[in-house]
Amino acid sequence: MADIKKDIRALTKDQIREFFVKNGDKSFRGNQVYEWLWQRGIHSFEEMTNISKETRQMMENHFVINHIKVDQMQRSSDGTIKNAIKLHDNLIVESVLIPTATRTTACVSSQVGCSLDCKFCATSRLKRMRNLNPDEIYDQVVVIDNESRLYHDRPLSNIVFMGMGEPLMNYNNVLKAIDKITSPEGLGMSPKRIVVSTSGVPKMIKKMADDNVKFKLAVSLHSAIDEVRDTIMPFNKTFPLKDLRESLVYWYEKTKNRITYEYVVWQGINDKRKDVDALVQFCKFAPSKVNIIEYNPIDDGMFQQADSLAIDMYRDILEANNITVTIRRSRGKDIDAACGQLANKK
Ligand code: SF4
Repeated sequence: MADIKKDIRALTKDQIREFFVKNGDKSFRGNQVYEWLWQRGIHSFEEMTNISKETRQMMENHFVINHIKVDQMQRSSDGTIKNAIKLHDNLIVESVLIPTATRTTACVSSQVGCSLDCKFCATSRLKRMRNLNPDEIYDQVVVIDNESRLYHDRPLSNIVFMGMGEPLMNYNNVLKAIDKITSPEGLGMSPKRIVVSTSGVPKMIKKMADDNVKFKLAVSLHSAIDEVRDTIMPFNKTFPLKDLRESLVYWYEKTKNRITYEYVVWQGINDKRKDVDALVQFCKFAPSKVNIIEYNPIDDGMFQQADSLAIDMYRDILEANNITVTIRRSRGKDIDAACGQLANKK
C-alpha cells in the first residue's frame, strides 16, 4: 500500500525542526519552512523560494500541504459575506464575514455538521461528519481577513465561534487554532477579540477555566427553565441548567471574565413573564450580560420570532435588574448567513 503523505501543517514547529535535523539539515530550516506555512500562507512547496530545490523535493516526497478552498462566495446587500468552504476531503463548511460600522467579525465553523440537536438550528439537521483540524479553523480566519481587507478596506477585528458545530465538542483543535491565531507567528490577534460560543457543556466550561484561557465565553442559553430548554435543546436533559450554572460560576471564579448569554425569544416558547424572571435569576449567579438575537426562521415554521412587545418586556425587566442587555439585529438574511441558518444550502 502506498504511503499516505502527512499534512505538514499538522506538525508543530519543533516537529518540523526535528524532521530537518533527522534528514541531515539544520534545525533552522524548520523555522524558515514554518514561517512560509503560517505567516506567508503559501499553498505549495515550490513557493518557498529561499529553500533549495532538493530540499523542496525532499519535503514533497514526505508531505502534502492541505488547504481549504472557497467553493462559493455570496455577498449580502448589507455587506455580509458567506463562504462555502471546501475541505481537502471535499466536505463543506460555512464561514461568514459580518461587517458593522466599527468592526469586522468572522463567524467560523468548528465541525462539519454538529453533534448536538438544537431544534431551531439548520446545522443540527446535518449529522456530524467530523471535527475540523486546527489549520482548517485557522484558514477560515485567514480567508475572512483577506475578504475584509479586499471588500471593507480594513483587517478582521473579531472572531466568534458561532458557525457550524459545537466548539467545545472539538475543544483541543479549537484551542490549537486559537493559539495560532493569537500567536505572533500566526495572526497575532488579541484573545480578547475572540468569543467561543457554546450551547453549554459543563465539563468543558470547567476545563476551559482550568486551562486559564484568555478568550471570551458566550453561552446559547435561550431558556433558563429546564422544561423549556429540554424541548428546544434536547441535550439539556444530559446537561441540565443546574450543572451549567455550576460550571459558569466556576468559570467566573477562575477567570473573572463575565459571561454573555445569547438568547432568542420565540412566540409561544419563551415569551412570557416567567421566562424573563427565570433568566434574571440565572444571570445573578455570575456576572453576565444578555444578547437578544433576532431569529431567522428555518423552513419548518415551528419557531417564529416573538413580537416586539415581548422583546421590550425582556429588555425592561433585565435593565430594571441591572443586567446589561443588547438587542442584536441579524445580518446576511438574504443569503442564509444569519445565526442558525448555516446548513450548506446553496
Ligand atoms: S446551535 Fe450550535 S450547537 Fe446547536 S445544533 Fe446548531 S451548531 Fe450545533
